[in-house]
Amino acid sequence: MSTQTFEFQVEARQLLQLMIHSVYSNKDVFLRELVSNASDALDKLRLEKLRDDALDVEVSDLHIELDIDSEARTLTVRDNGIGMSYDEVGQLIGTIANSGTAEFLRELRETKDAAGEEGLIGQFGVGFYSGFMVADEVTLVTRRAGESHGTRWTSRGEGTYTLTRVEDAPQGTSVTLHLKPADPENQLHDYASPWKVREIVKRYSDFITWPIRMASGTPADGGEPEPETLNSMKALWARPRDQVSDDEYHELYKHIGHDWRDPLETIRLQAEGTFEYQALLFLPEHAPHDLFTRDFRRGVQLYVKRVFIMDDCEALLPPYLRFVKGVVDAADLSLNVSREILQQDRHIEMMRRRLTKKVLSTVKDLMGEESDRYATFWREFGTVLKEGLVTDAENREALLAVASFASTHHESEPTTLKQYLERMKDGQEDIYYLTGDSRQAIENSPHMEAFRDRGIEVLLLTDAVDEVWVDAVGEYEGKKLRSVAKGEFDLDAKSGDEDSDDEREKRDEAYAGLLGWMGERLAEDIKEVRLSSRLTVSPACVVSDAHDLTPALENMYRAMGQ
Ligand code: ADP
Ligand code: MG
Repeated sequence: MSTQTFEFQVEARQLLQLMIHSVYSNKDVFLRELVSNASDALDKLRLEKLRDDALDVEVSDLHIELDIDSEARTLTVRDNGIGMSYDEVGQLIGTIANSGTAEFLRELRETKDAAGEEGLIGQFGVGFYSGFMVADEVTLVTRRAGESHGTRWTSRGEGTYTLTRVEDAPQGTSVTLHLKPADPENQLHDYASPWKVREIVKRYSDFITWPIRMASGTPADGGEPEPETLNSMKALWARPRDQVSDDEYHELYKHIGHDWRDPLETIRLQAEGTFEYQALLFLPEHAPHDLFTRDFRRGVQLYVKRVFIMDDCEALLPPYLRFVKGVVDAADLSLNVSREILQQDRHIEMMRRRLTKKVLSTVKDLMGEESDRYATFWREFGTVLKEGLVTDAENREALLAVASFASTHHESEPTTLKQYLERMKDGQEDIYYLTGDSRQAIENSPHMEAFRDRGIEVLLLTDAVDEVWVDAVGEYEGKKLRSVAKGEFDLDAKSGDEDSDDEREKRDEAYAGLLGWMGERLAEDIKEVRLSSRLTVSPACVVSDAHDLTPALENMYRAMGQ
């Protein structure tokens, strides 16, 4: 059949160049990527069969197979999973769809030096293309389960790839790497060595729930070598904590979180009783770029009794915890459960509440015991968590307890509300804040003058969501949250240097003419003009009534079309 040649997309070409010329030291991870793809393909096939039993596909012995040909210097990773159609191969392998990889490239463009580039490879999963770190040619043969024809894809990674339709491909996908010449100085790192391959699989892919087999050794009778299963296939979440190393947890995180970095924190939960489940959740160390986009893939993986059911199961955690990755394995759900059913299930609802509390208590623990890691967490995910202050009344207290905010108290270190209360001045009734686009903009606001002068601490809130949650929450420990830009303040009432009524009257008289004139000139735009003691440097400022919307909130509502 005819072979067609195609050009890689610009980004793909850029990434491939980086792979081919990579001096990135940890090349072993290419195998993890290929095994991870094979495992995903097996999960997808089993699921499709579960959904539609009449499907004409082979599911009796789903597995991954590794094959080394030391003469030809090839390593093949084969699965009998879902496979890809001709069109899918072009779309999925010729372009960069993976959001992690797209993010990688974006950062790459901002990094100018080569050392930075190499560092970045270590931080992102670059998926299928990572094969080109160790191979000078890659061939992929695949047949989509249920289809009759297959497809062969080949490339040397140099700008083009070819696609050929093939008659006789087995169901699933095989990826054959034509390995680069072995380094004579470093024989132990030869990927054509069964020993090396076995070691990599043990280290990175032991938890994969499908058997990873490799035929090795030469039997005495000279027949076919016996395949050996390399991985233990143990579901980490079902094993006692003291039998699983941190490294093993981290590898699982990288597989399901599509991240190359270790997670910030690992959370385990075992629920027994009428509705049994096990959860293994991870807090990432970095917020992804698309966290605030509409199609951010949120949620954790759902398993039922070790069987993978779905990715991105949004019913298991509230939207403001959408960055949490992990696995939930429930014992008593139907394998056929749908997203719609999950949304209404009472047990799932209870599970979500329990998982939410567990995540929040973990953040609280970090705050108490690991302040650096807490600071990282809040810097990356604080903005998302604050959405919960608006949407999740049940956990409002828990959220307020782990929240921290920039404040005039310290130029870089944020404060908790509890710490703010401890520093409040004698007689101070309220918690003061001001919202704005940046810390600098807020600090330069005339509204701040009187507070700065009197040494009264003000929280400096710069996220759009801040406008909303301060309204929704209203108070903390009986102290009102008050914007310094709204309403009137009697800041000196308790400090004794208040103007006497007499003096005030005199001043009002003296300025009556000016105030009246200004009131007329500005009648279209303002409600009233009044004398104020809040300013020390600026001659005048615009103040909202206590119940008015702030300008930023007005803009937000307007943008939402309300
Ligand atoms: P990711 O796995 O993060 O999506 P990859 O570069 O590893 O990114 O793979 C790109 C896509 O190619 C996968 O999402 C999948 O759709 C497809 N793919 C890769 N390997 C296989 C495979 N063994 N079987 C079926 N599809 C595959
Ligand atoms: Mg992948």
